[in-house]
Amino acid sequence: MLFVSSPDRPGCFLCHRPTFDPDKREVPWARAVADGVQVLICPDCQHDRSDWAESLDRCEACGSTRLSLTLGQVVCRACGHTARAGA
Ligand SMILES: [Zn+2]
Ligand SMILES: [Zn+2]
Repeated sequence: MLFVSSPDRPGCFLCHRPTFDPDKREVPWARAVADGVQVLICPDCQHDRSDWAESLDRCEACGSTRLSLTLGQVVCRACGHTARAGA
């Protein structure tokens, strides 16, 4: 069993359950950014909460929530746009 390490906010951003490695057939944990912090959303919340992306930061170029935080840069994994975290 592999655990995703997230020292700042372990567990799901919405329901706070601890991270786990989902079954290969299931939806993976979503990595996103909220208020400039990398967060994870569990498969259940993605499925059960239609508004799960509402509180997440969005790419200013394309509006996607598929953002990841790397070395103080928010990188959009949908279009490749980068922005300074917290800008
Ligand atoms: Zn959750
Ligand atoms: Zn984008």
